Amino acid sequence: MSVPVKTILDVKGHEVVTAGPDTTLAEAARTLSEHRIGAIVIVGMEGRISGIFTERDVVNALARLGKDSLDETVGSLMTSKVYRCKEETTVNELMEVMTARRFRHVPVESKGKLIGIISIGDVVKSRIREIELETEQIKAYIAG
Ligand code: AMP
Repeated sequence: MSVPVKTILDVKGHEVVTAGPDTTLAEAARTLSEHRIGAIVIVGMEGRISGIFTERDVVNALARLGKDSLDETVGSLMTSKVYRCKEETTVNELMEVMTARRFRHVPVESKGKLIGIISIGDVVKSRIREIELETEQIKAYIAG
């Protein structure tokens, strides 16, 4: 049994750091650093998700374009086909997708609106808590 993503959002909150596609890589890197996060969701008209831009994209842009990349817009560097999940998606499902597709961030949507983001750190924390609880229950059961 795995808990739904909603359980994580209820604890960590619904705040998501977003930026427009015209943001430069230099600005995006500052945002990532200031907020101590690994990903920014890129939003277009009416706050709809148009892409995701992560620290990996910063590294890739620097490797490919060198210092010229600093003035590039995130719109041209982001991943446009964003995998998202719902509040009902389970943490186990998310862990499998993140592992198989090799990304560490998944925006959460409800009725087409961005309502949160889950990182691999959140997933690991939640799984450890679940395992601890299961262990406590088993110990209590054995102790009678
Ligand atoms: P990450 O491991 O999250 O830093 O991302 C690794 C690569 O996958 C980067 O190029 C991201 O733009 C991309 N990426 C991250 N999250 C997602 C997602 N939810 N859907 C699609 N691509 C993603």
